Amino acid sequence: MFKLSMMDVSQPIRCVTKQFPGEVITMGKFCEVCEKGAMTGHNVSHSNRKSSRTWAPNVQKVRVLVDGRPMRLNVCTRCLRSGYVQRALPSVKAEAVTEEA
Ligand SMILES: [Zn+2]
Repeated sequence: MFKLSMMDVSQPIRCVTKQFPGEVITMGKFCEVCEKGAMTGHNVSHSNRKSSRTWAPNVQKVRVLVDGRPMRLNVCTRCLRSGYVQRALPSVKAEAVTEEA
């Protein structure tokens, strides 16, 4: 599910989820790893009036390593925290990465 190496990098990433078929979600509100998008619900006031609202996931645009090459992806912070992506940090050189492995 979270194997980034299985992604076809040559194709542009489709931001269409099962939740919103046919609807293209704004990239900043869509995680390209777990396909989490914005959720909808209600604001409920004290007088119980309900108005629609959306919750956007906390998505950060980060450089990650996909097949050893750096890519810029929109990744939610939960995927970042869970280690589903390997960050491509400018300070970390290729030698340091191989030493870890
Ligand atoms: Zn995610």
